[in-house]
Amino acid sequence: MESSHYRKALRKQTQRLKTKIKGTLKTLVARLPLLSGILQNRFVRGLFLSAYQSRYALSGLTLTAVMLVLGIRNLDQHSPIQASLAGNQDVTLDAFPIQIPHLRYGFALDTFQVTEGSIQPNEFLGSLLQEHGLSSVEIQELVQNAEGIFDIKSLRTGKPYTFLAKAGKEKPDYFIYEPNVYVYYVFDLNGKSVKRVERPVQKKWKTALGKIETSLWNAMTEQGLDYALAAKMEDALQWSVDFHHLQKGDRFQLLYEQEYINGRPVGIGQVYVAHYQTGDNEFYSIWYDENKELQGYYDLEGRPMNKGFLKAPVKFSRISSRFNPSRLHPILKRRRPHLGTDYAAPYGTPIMAVGNGVVVEARYSRGGGNMIKIKHNETYSTRYLHMQKFASGIRAGTTVKQGQIIGYVGSTGLATGPHVHFEFLKNGHAVDHTKLSFPPPDPLPESELPKFFELRDQYMKILNGGS
Ligand SMILES: [Zn+2]
Repeated sequence: MESSHYRKALRKQTQRLKTKIKGTLKTLVARLPLLSGILQNRFVRGLFLSAYQSRYALSGLTLTAVMLVLGIRNLDQHSPIQASLAGNQDVTLDAFPIQIPHLRYGFALDTFQVTEGSIQPNEFLGSLLQEHGLSSVEIQELVQNAEGIFDIKSLRTGKPYTFLAKAGKEKPDYFIYEPNVYVYYVFDLNGKSVKRVERPVQKKWKTALGKIETSLWNAMTEQGLDYALAAKMEDALQWSVDFHHLQKGDRFQLLYEQEYINGRPVGIGQVYVAHYQTGDNEFYSIWYDENKELQGYYDLEGRPMNKGFLKAPVKFSRISSRFNPSRLHPILKRRRPHLGTDYAAPYGTPIMAVGNGVVVEARYSRGGGNMIKIKHNETYSTRYLHMQKFASGIRAGTTVKQGQIIGYVGSTGLATGPHVHFEFLKNGHAVDHTKLSFPPPDPLPESELPKFFELRDQYMKILNGGS
């Protein structure tokens, strides 16, 4: 719906521009014999007027302008107008300044000396500004004025910055820091002020569908889909679909928001519907946020998806060893039951609590290394072993929420490589959590359901090709 509006508006704009350019050309040709010095002004003014009307059409316009010039040069060679033009020594068509100012961060960059760089390891705002000629008194004033707007400790290695100096000046006038595509900070080095500028984000609804032939990654990238979409799909379905067991032939379908800045895709916004089909099982996860307190994913009947437990404590990992009561231990080389599931993942991968609960143990043990035990309720507890380290603030007694990061993958204790050994305890006994199923939770309250169903039906219509 939104996109057709957009297209219509764009078509209109383009049509208007075409008419304008045609008009300009007609006027130009009609007046060619009479042209003197005013030709240049008139032509340029006409072009610039059109140019500023639509930034979408800028590139097209530049092209048209170039073609126009070429066309006139052609005319110059083959038409009777040639004589009158040729006699006019001061008209040089090649010299038309058809240049659109290069705008960035709200500045016409062409009018500045531009110095670009990226934050180096252990580089600080102070040292960077000092290198560019600011005194420590000036820096202090700037830092003071930045308080509440920009945290100078938030400078990150690798992020781009730009210094702008007016022509002929040694000291820069502006410093611009860009932590991500959505926002940048402009430091006025003369006025010693700082402002935060958010780039306007355009959002468009998109649908995607795919079939797993080899991997989810392939299914996504083969269609030119952003792989970030896979993570968002996993977020939406993490309670229902075990992303470690994707099968060949599985299908997915998504309704989501694509974010654009200046027409360039920059990221994935909200996923509204995620649909996953594996064998005879089908899962729908629908985003509902009409009521902020109940915001989250729900199934087709309005039952919350996030009740129960996550299917796995780490994303993008693989199961390296399954629950097996009579396994041959890889280090001890003798039969020893494996009472958990091992998820192999790179060092430092975040480990999440699979459900709400309270940390009852966070300690080091010789076999399990850094381990955490969470009590979820009277029946269920979970354990996470071999962590590199605990997440900050996690200790015995800490209340944790489902999906909260509690630590990071490591190989402390008896472990051959980085992985998390995950145990699911039912009434104190380890069980294979990949085989567990839980009773369905209650749906949204009666007062919310009509709104939910209305949204659901709207989304499904879009997802299935309607509008
Ligand atoms: Zn294990």
